[in-house]
Amino acid sequence: MNTAIAQRLALLHQRIAAAEAEAGRPPGSVQLLAVSKTQNAARVREALAAGQRVFAENYVQEALDKMAALHEAGVLSWHFIGPIQSNKTRPLAEHFDWIHSIDRLKIAQRLNDQRPTERPPLNVLIEVNVSGEDSKAGAAPADVPALAAAIAALPRLCLRGLMCIPAPASGLDQQRLPFRQLRELRDALLASGHATCTELSMGMSADFPAAILEGATLIRVGTDVFGPRQ
Ligand SMILES: *Cc1c(COP(=O)(O)O)cnc(C)c1O
Repeated sequence: MNTAIAQRLALLHQRIAAAEAEAGRPPGSVQLLAVSKTQNAARVREALAAGQRVFAENYVQEALDKMAALHEAGVLSWHFIGPIQSNKTRPLAEHFDWIHSIDRLKIAQRLNDQRPTERPPLNVLIEVNVSGEDSKAGAAPADVPALAAAIAALPRLCLRGLMCIPAPASGLDQQRLPFRQLRELRDALLASGHATCTELSMGMSADFPAAILEGATLIRVGTDVFGPRQ
């Protein structure tokens, strides 16, 4: 397997393993989500052929088209990581395995109501605005405990953890700060009894080593898998 995507994936797995080792975490404790937004089905197939089985998408219609084209191609799970409009929740509830970008209860309630009964509960993460930027999506850190409690009461959802997209920062130490804040929020949820809330979705191409050092369990990487987006 010698395609460009296979080579990038091999290098990425080496870098993930190095960060796991540096963090003193067991090999395989970080799951790589390949962010396939703007990549066509053929490129996703190339990643599949190189062993990547889990993909993340940002745009509902693009994702649905790709899922249809890749039906039975061997994708293990689809994660949704983009902004959610309340009138677009139904296809998310019907077609995805994980939703990372829940930042208000209304969205969670709609996903709960629309999750098909023949499918397992939908895995969800609360997106947190750790950088406190006005323009950014995500719940304020102070609002997370109440939102988590409300989501935990919804039977068709399973609250699995927290997600963040911090403002870009340079240097490992600066990059680690918001990731540490997200980990502390997650730890507080676990301590207050949210036993399924184990996941931390944090880290992209530019900052995943810092995220792994702070405990990321799911990293969302696009550019370093597929190359620069068009
Ligand atoms: C596009 C995107 C990514 C991947 O970004 P890269 O820098 O290409 O790795 C990760 N998370 C979210 C929410 C994204 O929108």
